[in-house]
Amino acid sequence: MSTLEDKTEQLKQIYNEILALKKSPLYAYRTENRYLPVIGEGSHAANIMIIGEAPGKKEAMTGKPFCGASGKILDQLLARIGLDRTTVYVTNVVKDRPPENRDPTLGEIELYTPFLDRQIDIIQPKVIATLGRFSMAYIMQKFDPTWNEPIGAAHGKEVRVKVSYGEITILPLYHPAATIYNQKLRATFFDDGEKLRKYLR
Ligand code: URA
Repeated sequence: MSTLEDKTEQLKQIYNEILALKKSPLYAYRTENRYLPVIGEGSHAANIMIIGEAPGKKEAMTGKPFCGASGKILDQLLARIGLDRTTVYVTNVVKDRPPENRDPTLGEIELYTPFLDRQIDIIQPKVIATLGRFSMAYIMQKFDPTWNEPIGAAHGKEVRVKVSYGEITILPLYHPAATIYNQKLRATFFDDGEKLRKYLR
């Protein structure tokens, strides 16, 4: 079993590797704009891991995940269920901002997800909440390659999967950005997120 210090050291190593990831198609965009990579933030001993898509502008300027408009909605969900953000770990599939917040490419997802895989193995969450279809598809197919459902069907449905360190729950949620101008989806996002309540500690 890794100690908390080991975990922190291993996560720092991931940070350094991504900082130096010159082969990323997003590296030049990051450095030209003086952006930062967004590796993840929160407790290294978290029970709950929240995985978004990729950093937006505010995130890339600060190096912190979900600190812009989408982050406000995520924070509202966490506040509703009494979950302190410092007790969870928040990260993204892709660790650098794609230009104009476009969807991440397959190549970018393939390049960055080995880092996400390592983060999961280090933190060993009991629950992973995915935000949006890119995060959902990557995580669900990582544990069940035959899995294929649109987010409209999969959102809010807890799925138990076997991982290297036991059995965990995946909870696909809509991306908060999808709920910015859609009150109905916002209500669904909050309702689905209620399912995280039972994993609080
Ligand atoms: N959207 C994401 O998917 N991740 C962030 O960190 C911010 C916005």
